[in-house]
Amino acid sequence: MTEGEFDLIRRLFAPLAEKEPGAFGLEDDVAALLDTDFVATKDALVAGVHFPEDERFDLIARKALRVNLSDLAAKGAKPFGYLLGCVWPTDATSAEMEEFAAGLKQDQETYKITLLGGDTTRHRRAGAPLTLSVTMFGLGPRDGVVRRNGARVGDDVYVTGTIGDAGLGLMAAQGEETFPSSDEAELHERLRLPSPRLRFGGALPGVASAAIDVSDGLVADAGHLAAASGVAIEIDAARLPMSDAAIAWRARQSDPDASITALAGAGDDYEILFTAPPERRRAIDIASQVTKTSATKIGVARSGHGVRLLNESGAQISLLRPGYDHFR
Ligand code: ADP
Ligand code: MG
Repeated sequence: MTEGEFDLIRRLFAPLAEKEPGAFGLEDDVAALLDTDFVATKDALVAGVHFPEDERFDLIARKALRVNLSDLAAKGAKPFGYLLGCVWPTDATSAEMEEFAAGLKQDQETYKITLLGGDTTRHRRAGAPLTLSVTMFGLGPRDGVVRRNGARVGDDVYVTGTIGDAGLGLMAAQGEETFPSSDEAELHERLRLPSPRLRFGGALPGVASAAIDVSDGLVADAGHLAAASGVAIEIDAARLPMSDAAIAWRARQSDPDASITALAGAGDDYEILFTAPPERRRAIDIASQVTKTSATKIGVARSGHGVRLLNESGAQISLLRPGYDHFR
């Protein structure tokens, strides 16, 4: 089997971070800059990989900020500011760069964050794609960030919002699936412009035992949390929160297990998957009401390892592709 994204990170990069406890062994969504309140996270975005080459430049900018904000959200951190690296295509126009900057401005206002610095360069080779890298800083909660590694056997497993919409939006954009036009617009919007769950995430410290943002796919990210915590995660497919558009799509599919794995294996949800002991149920319901963000109990943490997805009759669904991996 080829070496996956996470094997590469473990083999090549984790040894370079092993002296610094705040790097968490490169096994979390953020690093804590110890002895300060700051946490840091970085996500790179490449045209043709993370957004279509003909995407609007303001939306590209806003997505670049929001995928990073999602990592802060899952840790209960408050966004502060960011460093921005841009490598523009040879033929980038100033109108495109202006539209990009306008997108940054809009989301800076929405999330009350500021640009801190960065670097701006240009590709030499014609056709090389717009390549972006955002390093986002946030202020961690007083009692420390909600790590990926705190889930315990017996904890309940929850996820915010709905799962699989961005994946369906991608299928629609690629012409693999057709949807009624209003559903298509909604699904496509989920893909183009995620909504990081910052308000809900802010309520998680002291309530959740572990958390991760769902960027690679529900099953893949549940797997990352399970591995970091040393537990198995069992998810009931019947409980997966789905949008009306996803429910309607699923009703049109012939294989209910395959359609669930498609939703649970698709990336770009930017929801928060978290665990909490059963007695935290009420605190979670209150957080959900106060922040107007749904949080659905989808399963439990058990002893063992890995992720099991159970279908409506309790049978285990085989998972061929748990989520997105850039190297597999
Ligand atoms: P996320 O999906 O939360 O953004 P990733 O899946 O991209 O996280 O990365 C997993 C972990 O590996 C994170 O702790 C991240 O900081 C670390 N990581 C990924 N690539 C590198 C790299 N090139 N150098 C150092 N750390 C990295
Ligand atoms: Mg993450």
